[in-house]
Amino acid sequence: MTKNIAVIKGDGIGPEIVTEAMKVLDKVAQVYGHTFNYTQLLMGGCSIDANGVPLTDETIEACKASDAVLMGSIGGDTNTSPWYKLPANLRPEAGLLGIRKALGLFANLRPCLLYPELAGACPLKESISAKGFDMLIMRELTGGLYFGEKKTEEVDGVMTATDTLVYSENEIRRIAIKAFEVAMKRNKKVTSVDKANVLDSSRLWRKVVNEVAKDYPEVTVEHMLVDNSAMQLVKDPSQFDVMVTENMFGDILSDEASMITGSIGMLPSASMNETKFGLYEPSGGSAPDIAGQNKANPIATILSASMMLRYSFDMQAEADAVDNAVKQILKDGYRTGDIMSEGKTLLSCSEMGDKIAEYIK
Ligand code: NAD
Repeated sequence: MTKNIAVIKGDGIGPEIVTEAMKVLDKVAQVYGHTFNYTQLLMGGCSIDANGVPLTDETIEACKASDAVLMGSIGGDTNTSPWYKLPANLRPEAGLLGIRKALGLFANLRPCLLYPELAGACPLKESISAKGFDMLIMRELTGGLYFGEKKTEEVDGVMTATDTLVYSENEIRRIAIKAFEVAMKRNKKVTSVDKANVLDSSRLWRKVVNEVAKDYPEVTVEHMLVDNSAMQLVKDPSQFDVMVTENMFGDILSDEASMITGSIGMLPSASMNETKFGLYEPSGGSAPDIAGQNKANPIATILSASMMLRYSFDMQAEADAVDNAVKQILKDGYRTGDIMSEGKTLLSCSEMGDKIAEYIK
């Protein structure tokens, strides 16, 4: 198969970690007989330096013309970088919001997997972490409270602020379908999170999720209130497979879920539209404190590339090969600095990429 991948290396550690993910993709292509063509594009701080704006139409069009986008991270040190003296709409992060909007990416996927070898980094009690967990939070990204009508006004002499939480059944249906499709490629369970005891939008959410569920008889569906979900995430995260929820609930729960894995350098993510198209990037930022030192952990980006193989290219065996290579690397005691512990072998960013590529056979 031939696939065209738009590559946005970005700023800070971005170029280092994306180079390693491309190394792993090239090995996958070689072993499985595929061709991956890359188009390198600028976005974020490097685009400000080159073009005066964080995102150009050229980058948007090239992304649209590709099968998927692989991204590093964008932005610099927010205290010292000159990029942060610019107006908000010209700063690096404006590029990120702009590209998500231009590509219609409404579903954010964040897998949270606790590797037994890294269980020590999990802040939960050992009796809970010992069971391990492997879940994915799917957050609606373009609707809900953050995008509804908002105003601050004086009402009867009192300052009053209003935010509106709006969801149409179409917006709910498209993310519910995405959640069930992803569950079919995982452990076939969907937990839909809402606040249906209080919110109308949640009651519509629950109704539409139940309608969509009928098309996926192999998938078990359950509904959970958001307050209970926050508790269950720290009480027994092993019960979850795919958790799907609206924008604000997902914003909060996805950070909670990331935290219980304990290591930012290990967490991939994807943002997708209705088709198989997606933008794949690590959950962490551009880590300016370690940029250019060849010591960043490339695994989150390599696992993001694996998600691209699985969800955009339908290459299950190839994605499994990458995920298994990462598991084996950890079992064999190889670590980058952020996940290093006594008795393990310390690797640089590029050595970690080499090792993972070597493990794909
Ligand atoms: P950060 O995630 O970049 O760094 C937080 C800490 O985690 C740092 O100590 C860093 O060294 C470490 N870290 C992050 N990724 C790592 C990796 N792969 N390997 C080893 N260590 C890693 O968060 P921050 O410092 O708050 O933000 C820095 C910049 O990144 C800011 O400009 C911010 O706006 C930007 N940012 C970009 C994205 C994105 O591109 N999607 C996301 C978050 C933050």
